[in-house]
Amino acid sequence: MQKASSQNLSWMACTKAVPLPHASPLAKWFPGTHAVEMAILKIARMGHPVLLQRAAEIPDPTAPEIRRLAQDMIETMEDAGGAGLAAPQVHVPLRLFVFRVAPHRTIEGDAAPVATTVVVNPVLERLDEEEVLSWEGCLSLPGMRGAVPRGARLRYRGQGLDGAPITAEAGGFHAIVVQHEYDHLDGVLYPMRMRDHRLFGFNEELIRAAPAPATPSAQDTSR
Ligand SMILES: [Zn+2]
Repeated sequence: MQKASSQNLSWMACTKAVPLPHASPLAKWFPGTHAVEMAILKIARMGHPVLLQRAAEIPDPTAPEIRRLAQDMIETMEDAGGAGLAAPQVHVPLRLFVFRVAPHRTIEGDAAPVATTVVVNPVLERLDEEEVLSWEGCLSLPGMRGAVPRGARLRYRGQGLDGAPITAEAGGFHAIVVQHEYDHLDGVLYPMRMRDHRLFGFNEELIRAAPAPATPSAQDTSR
């Protein structure tokens, strides 16, 4: 059981089993009745078609099955040591991601760490043309990393699990992880964003070749 210390996790106190409404349009992804326990979900790896499709809008962010999905995604992300996870990565093609910016992962441009956050139906907007080169990993490409050009600053909007609007501006690692997760909702994996595939490879080889990388703060990040 994860600790429910942040505002975003307060719903974890819910202990009632949640039967899925039979008529729910989301039923095909959530068969049966959910038990109360959280679950570690299987992560789709690159090559699975669910990672290449555009995910669908979520009509009701407050639906119990969406809450359950987000809860399981958070547990899966934390179990894997990731900084973010998008629903298609757990075989659910819906527009939702979770992320966190731990204090040790902040870089230049971050205003502050960010507690675990759930964003439903996100929309991104670049604030300027500045780019950064981000060394990224992905839970769907285990053991690999690559240098990916990303917007340095952005604004994003979406909804929380309570249906309330979310609006935030982000720089630094916060901006990078949000762009990475958002891409998953459009079927884009980070190698598809890369311009120089010489900067792509297995972690062990890259570390061996360059023991003192230029951007260490993003090196060990899986998203
Ligand atoms: Zn990823």
